[in-house]
Amino acid sequence: MEQEHPLVRDVFPELISELMALLEDEGERELSICAWDLRLFGECGCGDDFCQSIRTSDHPQGQPYGAGHRCVPLSPSTGMLILDVVDHRIVYVEVLQRPTMRRQDLKS
Ligand SMILES: [Zn+2]
Repeated sequence: MEQEHPLVRDVFPELISELMALLEDEGERELSICAWDLRLFGECGCGDDFCQSIRTSDHPQGQPYGAGHRCVPLSPSTGMLILDVVDHRIVYVEVLQRPTMRRQDLKS
């Protein structure tokens, strides 16, 4: 059986509720629904202490996203949240200059 990537809402529940609310505010209803099912593929790994970005797809880092790509900047009360969307899929969540995200322990 293939190892599943954890749901982001299980690991960072506060991030997902915030993302969904902000997407609703932007009129991005479809993406808001997608956010609920996002899976955590990994962390950005750049090592910058202001960056807590997460990868939500298996898109190789550093590779161009191609034609179907758009950026969706949100307006959180602190820091920056920017989504990378490719063909209506959220592939990357930029989390910048934000308070440290509390990580939920996964029980499996
Ligand atoms: Zn980073």
